[in-house]
Amino acid sequence: MIEIDKPASDLHQFLSPLKILGLCFCNKKATARVAYEAVEDAVKENVKYLELIIGPAFEASFYNLPLEEVFKGIVEGIKKAEERYGIKVNLIAGPTFKWKERKAYSPLQVLEMSLKFKEKVVGFGLSSETKEGMPFSSWPKELRQEYISLARKVKEHGLSLTVHAGEISDAQSVMDAIKYLEADRIGHGIRSTENSKVLKYIVEKRVPLEICVSSNIKSGVVKSLKEHPIRKLWKQGALITINTDDPTLCKTTSTKEYEILIRKFSFSYFELKKLILNAVTSSFLDEKEKECLNRKIQEYFIKLENR
Ligand SMILES: [Zn+2]
Repeated sequence: MIEIDKPASDLHQFLSPLKILGLCFCNKKATARVAYEAVEDAVKENVKYLELIIGPAFEASFYNLPLEEVFKGIVEGIKKAEERYGIKVNLIAGPTFKWKERKAYSPLQVLEMSLKFKEKVVGFGLSSETKEGMPFSSWPKELRQEYISLARKVKEHGLSLTVHAGEISDAQSVMDAIKYLEADRIGHGIRSTENSKVLKYIVEKRVPLEICVSSNIKSGVVKSLKEHPIRKLWKQGALITINTDDPTLCKTTSTKEYEILIRKFSFSYFELKKLILNAVTSSFLDEKEKECLNRKIQEYFIKLENR
């Protein structure tokens, strides 16, 4: 298992062990196994609905696997876990930012293949493994245009979109992700607190933030838990959800993330409950499915509160 003990000097260093993980994806069967085990880990955390982020182009690049085989393997793996454990799983497909350098499948190819597996792929996730993150405004015009048209295609095909912003890059990147890419959710978005206008905007528009506290510490984006802005975001009324980012890399689980909130940020039971229900509201399920999941989760809370 690959875990990060010390905070990385930057995001690039933080993500570098993924290159070793990539060696696991040697064929469709192995890909299915990895996907199955990822779901199994979530089941152990009592997760009832999981949106699993996958990097199919990255995974295919190690052994030159056909992209379709990678998708098939992942879908096979998660379906097997769903049948066995009764959990519901959907996928968010993420292209590889440096696909040209890696000679990997392009973001458009990943999107096209995602549409073939639309039964399970509900969203598209954009992030960049560069030291700069996704600082949209400073990108060359061509790259910006490439991403704008990609995001447009994602939406046209009915997929939801999450964009990493306000993690390494500043608060403005959050606005750019919303304005130019029409992101439905923001990956991290913690640096929104650095700009009152941006903060006000995401609070008013109820833009969901995927907060990953441990990841921010391990990646070195936030120096210490004390300095993490989660309380500030919560106090201001931001729509926060709690996530693990890469649980293996970050040496965390959903349970651990909630524990951190209780121990280090004094979150109460009712606040945690709200955070969990926020995750349902912000999920990429359709309204009917959301209602159904919401009911299921509420039932768990009622049982817990009447114990
Ligand atoms: Zn992330």
